[in-house]
Amino acid sequence: ASMREERIDKKKTVCTYCGVGCTFDVWTKGRQILKVEPNAESPANGISTCIKGKFGWDYVNSEERLTKPLIRRGDHFEEVEWGEAISFVVERMSEIKAEKGADHLGFISSSKATNEESYLMQKFARQVIGTNNIDNCSRYCQAPATKGLFRTVGYGGDSGTIDDIAASNLVLTIGSNTAESHPVLASRIKRSQKLFGQKLFVFDLRKHEMAKRADRFFQPKSGTDLVWLSAVTKYILDQGWEDQDFLKEWVNGFDEYRESLEPFTLEYASDLTGIAEEDLKSLAQEIAKTEKVAICWAMGVTQHMLGSDTSTAISNLLLITGNYGKPGTGAYPLRGHNNVQGCSDFGSMPNFFPGYEETTDDEVRGRYEKAWDVQIPKEPGMDNHEMIESIHNDDLSAMYVMGEDTGIVDANINYVTAALEKLDLFIVQDLFLTHTSQYADVVLPASPSLEKEGTFTNTERRIQRMYKSFEPLEGTKPDWEILQLLAKESGFDWGYTHPSEIMEEAAGLAPLFAGVRYDRLEGYKSLQWPVAEDGTDEPLLFTEGFPFEDKKARLYPLDFELMYDTSEEYDLHVNNGRLLEHFHEGNMTYKSEGIRRKTPNAFIEVSQELAKERGIEEGAEVKLISDAGEATGIVTVTDRVSGKELYLPLNGDGKSAINYLTDNRVDKDSNTPAYKEIAVKMKVLKKK
Ligand code: SF4
Repeated sequence: ASMREERIDKKKTVCTYCGVGCTFDVWTKGRQILKVEPNAESPANGISTCIKGKFGWDYVNSEERLTKPLIRRGDHFEEVEWGEAISFVVERMSEIKAEKGADHLGFISSSKATNEESYLMQKFARQVIGTNNIDNCSRYCQAPATKGLFRTVGYGGDSGTIDDIAASNLVLTIGSNTAESHPVLASRIKRSQKLFGQKLFVFDLRKHEMAKRADRFFQPKSGTDLVWLSAVTKYILDQGWEDQDFLKEWVNGFDEYRESLEPFTLEYASDLTGIAEEDLKSLAQEIAKTEKVAICWAMGVTQHMLGSDTSTAISNLLLITGNYGKPGTGAYPLRGHNNVQGCSDFGSMPNFFPGYEETTDDEVRGRYEKAWDVQIPKEPGMDNHEMIESIHNDDLSAMYVMGEDTGIVDANINYVTAALEKLDLFIVQDLFLTHTSQYADVVLPASPSLEKEGTFTNTERRIQRMYKSFEPLEGTKPDWEILQLLAKESGFDWGYTHPSEIMEEAAGLAPLFAGVRYDRLEGYKSLQWPVAEDGTDEPLLFTEGFPFEDKKARLYPLDFELMYDTSEEYDLHVNNGRLLEHFHEGNMTYKSEGIRRKTPNAFIEVSQELAKERGIEEGAEVKLISDAGEATGIVTVTDRVSGKELYLPLNGDGKSAINYLTDNRVDKDSNTPAYKEIAVKMKVLKKK
């Protein structure tokens, strides 16, 4: 090792796991990671971290890291030099474009990559290829929340900060396993509950840690959150408990909305949700009579066929009770991946340029066409879900996936992998030979966050810088450099020497980020969008109205139809979610020894009642069968689930993966898979 590698060094980074966006110093010696040290100046986490942020870094030095580009030759991969890989990709892409048209290519950006990389991925799709077929994995999770908020309040992000959640008098969490999925944020809620008498109401199918701590815990029937939300809102209006001043000054569409609530009587809601009428009444009263209310939600709301409408119902309730634009109030869709917010913010979406400006808007499109000197298609491109469908229909022939394990995280993987196999060209860019790469024609070895500079945006819309802890592992490159090489080979010389220049370009084009500059993000400084040109940001949104022409929010009428239920044959409902120790499909955490040893295997949670009924015990082996496929796993009997509810962690690998069971049903407004609406039957393989 050289002298330089042996020096002890300290660099600030942003956690690469969840959307809380913890920042800390990473101490290194060469490539060795000595320790992770939180810093009191960290805006989102102060001196806290969770197990993943503290110990989840071994994957960076894993022996399994890819260090050479791979090209498929028959049934195996051959290692090639970068030059060869880049020309191969560009040549094949141009052939497909020439032969079938630009819209035969599709791009999936990564919510683990930086904002700058998301910006470049969509720039590559739109400028170099000429298609709007670009999406990212928020399609799997929070696209419905974004939709619900856009419709009502105009910005698809958290209304305030984690401090606002902590300062609220009453926090509702709906379909969020906060203690395991957003651990540091959950600690803030626990602290406020303990020290300041904050109330916590939890809505979930599963009695997880936060449910056990809650002042009130509700278990509405799966997929019926829209109903109790609307019934509670109606009851508040019927009692005259709404915030009349707020409604008069800041809200449009009241009459039509009020009319749409007619069907949502307490009786109807109680029937469908299973929550007693008395409980709905007292819930309405507490929400209406409490000064500051904040609502947090996650996949338990969004991954349903009515995910967007349910997110809309949350926002309607907040509007009726005047819980926007004041400290301690607002809507908080808790973002999963560290940069799922930023990835959408910076334009990796089929209908939006960076900063959520529509491709159909001539003025906006003209601005990008001028800057990039090309024609860009007006019509929105295909989203993730549509791309997979289109491969099956022969309307899409090539796909480029950056940092996403599509073949395991998308719903109904049997269907998805059959599509991936059909592609004429499939490019995967990742750290490891992922499950998805086995279908690839080319695999490009990327570098993780510690090996590059850039920015991430957390769930609070907070843009934070990270600094390079050490050079990219030999043979690998950061995603932005790979994209730049591909663009250059295609005849577009972008010429960026540092990610700050990419941000400068994005800020110059997207008004939402007008004042975002690297010098304003030095060290632990951060900016929460929208950022005005002079650098003023907005930690709390809507203090002076909503981003519509008349500055008024819009109540959005909804109706409800039960979209999903178990049947006599498929009699069990499978729920799924995260574990504290692992992250999603486990790509990174499985490669961190300390974590893997602690929680090696995925399991199926079975209620005590069901275990008794089926005559099975802890450790039994069962097979679950849905209309899409089957999965097997080991049983753990627990009181966290009840009755005919099962729970599977997301991180299952091999045959226990949840997505063998999920099917093609999606949220009707955003095409997000209805991961949480799976009915199965259970076959016992071994009783114990
Ligand atoms: Fe990382 Fe989230 Fe844990 Fe913070 S709470 S250390 S951001 S995984």
